[in-house]
Amino acid sequence: MKKLEDFADDINKCSKCGLCQSVCPVYKITGNDCAVSRGKFVMLEGVLKGDLKLNKNIEKYLDMCLKCGKCKAFCPSGIEVCEIFNAAKYECAKNSFHGRVENFFESDLVFGNLMRIARKLTHIFSEKLYLKESQMSLKLLYFKGCVNDVYPKNEKALKKIFKNLDAELIEKNFECCGLPFLSSGNWERYEEVKKKNLQIIEECHFDYILTDCASCASTLKDYFNEDLCPKFINAAEFISEQNIKFRFNKPLKVTFHKPCHLENSDFLQKLFEKCENLEYIEMKDFDECCGFAGQFGLLNRELSIEISKKKAQNIIDTGADIVLTTCPSCVIGIIQGLQYSELTGKKRPKVMNIIDFLSKAKIIVPKK
Ligand code: SF4
Ligand code: SF4
Repeated sequence: MKKLEDFADDINKCSKCGLCQSVCPVYKITGNDCAVSRGKFVMLEGVLKGDLKLNKNIEKYLDMCLKCGKCKAFCPSGIEVCEIFNAAKYECAKNSFHGRVENFFESDLVFGNLMRIARKLTHIFSEKLYLKESQMSLKLLYFKGCVNDVYPKNEKALKKIFKNLDAELIEKNFECCGLPFLSSGNWERYEEVKKKNLQIIEECHFDYILTDCASCASTLKDYFNEDLCPKFINAAEFISEQNIKFRFNKPLKVTFHKPCHLENSDFLQKLFEKCENLEYIEMKDFDECCGFAGQFGLLNRELSIEISKKKAQNIIDTGADIVLTTCPSCVIGIIQGLQYSELTGKKRPKVMNIIDFLSKAKIIVPKK
């Protein structure tokens, strides 16, 4: 693992141009330079020079980041911001009492066992996917993610759709992808789950790794060097490529929130063309963060609510019946924003995972 000091050259690459301010959702609300990458780099430079201590105040600003990556995509110096913030957070966590307490709760003993118990309980009655494996042309290794493990609604929806597709869904007992551990600076735990997940991936034969959570997919991709990375596909994108249609029993207007970690959403048009009785309305800033971002939403409650309210307003303005997305954390962020928003006579849209939404339609498979 790279330490904060290993990023000294990257931090020095920051020209202090301030372009990151124009895209950072946290800066847009707070107007505080310490909340955006430029200000954080000034503080971390001070730490590396020995002029500042990596204290609670700096940690507070490190936590004030959605890890949305917007600043990275915009930064003329191409700085890997999130990696640097994670390395700094690791230094904070290992040197503080609260960091060690958090690491204990994230350990395999506590978090790992809780997830295994939850998985057992929720899957006692869940449906098994009976497919004739030998006839399936494509093999998809399904990475469910922790939310689907404890709340298998999307998983059931996915299986309902997959019964109609020529693809085998391979299910394994993966660990958490590790994103929450990276954000809390628990590098050891991240390495532990990464090792176990990599072992499962290496032992399986598959064409694609299928996910329906953009954040899990992005974290898993970071396990690999670019040239050795297996092929990943989002469940909605995969469905958009299949010979299948969805008929809704009444006309519906939908809009879509693009999660920060979803690399592209070009498949949407193709997917919506497969849906009868559906009108898609693009919202303003459809790819701007929902404001929840896991730990950020818990540590920066007021800020998270303000960012999610902006998202909710853009959703409400479309007049859509339903807002769709493909990340469980975004579902929570959007619900939060809608709860705190003034509707001023407009209706409150429903928030749904896109796979769950599609599974509610009549599925039409053309005869061969
Ligand atoms: S955009 Fe990049 S180089 Fe410019 S201030 Fe922000 S982090 Fe520094
Ligand atoms: S990752 Fe997102 S929230 Fe964090 S500093 Fe960059 S733009 Fe702001």
